[in-house]
Amino acid sequence: MNLDLATAALEAGGKLRLPGKPIGELIATGYSIDSRTMQAGELFFAVRGERFDGHDFIEAAFAREAVAAVVAESQLLNLPERVRSLPLIVVDDPLLGLQRLAAYVRRHWGRLLIGITGSAGKTTTKDAIAAVLSMKCRVLKSQGNLNNGFGLPLQLLKLDRALHDVAVIEMGMSNAGEITMLARIASPDWAVVTNVGNAHAQNFPDGIAGVARAKYELVADVSGRGKAFLNCDDAYVSQFGRDFQGEVIYFGSGPCGDPRAFDVVEHGADGVTMHVHAGTQEQRVQLKLMGRHNVTNALAAIAVGTKYGVPLADCALALASLEPGDKRGQMVEFHGAKLINDSYNCNPEALKAMIRTLAAVPATRRILVAGEMLELGPDSRELHRACGVEAAANHIDIVLGVRGEAARIVEAAAESGLQAIFLETPEAAGAWLKANLRPGDVALLKASRGVKLERALAELATE
Ligand code: ATP
Ligand code: MG
Repeated sequence: MNLDLATAALEAGGKLRLPGKPIGELIATGYSIDSRTMQAGELFFAVRGERFDGHDFIEAAFAREAVAAVVAESQLLNLPERVRSLPLIVVDDPLLGLQRLAAYVRRHWGRLLIGITGSAGKTTTKDAIAAVLSMKCRVLKSQGNLNNGFGLPLQLLKLDRALHDVAVIEMGMSNAGEITMLARIASPDWAVVTNVGNAHAQNFPDGIAGVARAKYELVADVSGRGKAFLNCDDAYVSQFGRDFQGEVIYFGSGPCGDPRAFDVVEHGADGVTMHVHAGTQEQRVQLKLMGRHNVTNALAAIAVGTKYGVPLADCALALASLEPGDKRGQMVEFHGAKLINDSYNCNPEALKAMIRTLAAVPATRRILVAGEMLELGPDSRELHRACGVEAAANHIDIVLGVRGEAARIVEAAAESGLQAIFLETPEAAGAWLKANLRPGDVALLKASRGVKLERALAELATE
């Protein structure tokens, strides 16, 4: 939303410097925390990240024609004189200023905002919900994976009554209290929770139970104000509706689900088909997205869509054309072989599920390229080994383990009689694939984000 600087300063909790000059009438046409991607006319917030302090980039922002910069009062005297003569909004903390302004824009916009959290599937579910709702109205969805205290406010600042009827916003967390903080900014009306898993469990003294409480913060925030959409197949999330004041919609494949999926058939690289029952409607639903986990994500979208009044048949239409997100099951061709780029992230459950999906893909040889899975704690060795065993049980032809603990996957696969090779880096895995892939092969690439397994694919493209 465009804002004049006087309003922006007021709502960010700051003061316009150079009062008396008419800079209050200048208009911010966008908002940025990154001088490299900033567009002319945007308001630059000098926030401090882990590695950078935005105050070092204020001149760069003005060089790109920032309309003004939001700076910390404590930094004002450290700024060069020439910067201090430019239009500034002075606040206690630019990040808090960004968040306050985002909360103001969200309130001013005033329409339905849907918040999504969960250990896995947030981005995919966000995209699926946005696709389904777009059948009926104009949707703003968070861009990419921007789901934290920096990214979420930047998304809300785009809200505009002339452009958007509904907002679909991803909310991530790594610690207790973060979802509550994001919910205070975004004021979600509807809460969607995909699942509770081990991601970030190391940040909680009681592990996964702590993760569950942190995810519950979204539901608690919406209670008394809106609706909760809960995955009833998940042991934790299925309990989140107990004290909820308001309507709870359970989605899942179990008998508790409405919408509920049944007759789910995986078609390997060609996606998944299923029947869905929602209220009095029933519909065949086809997904290009691979893997059983995407059934959950699609059901969340159907739950939200049908509640919003999108007919189930239209939900199915929208879901049928949904493409896999970046590094989330995308197909790459290489000289007659196929590579499934699922390198965005991994955990043992997700890897085992995708091994079963790979087993269903028609191929002359099925190759699993599994990178190491990080942050698994003391059971890491056994959890990696179990994936090697799963590969053997599903008759995968070749296992490549990439980096560190992936050696355990290779070890267990080899003990079960598979051809299994350990490679130290994604680049080495890429070189192996380049030299050994044959037409008709299908390779699945999956690893924790920190492994950057997609670099194996970059290697294939080199001469
Ligand atoms: P992040 O926490 O990084 O934002 P996310 O929650 O947004 O992740 P996605 O980006 O949608 O999750 O999916 C990441 C990976 O998680 C997928 O590649 C897949 O392996 C797995 N995944 C996706 N959806 C589910 C689900 N519903 N249940 C379990 N695993 C899932
Ligand atoms: Mg995400």
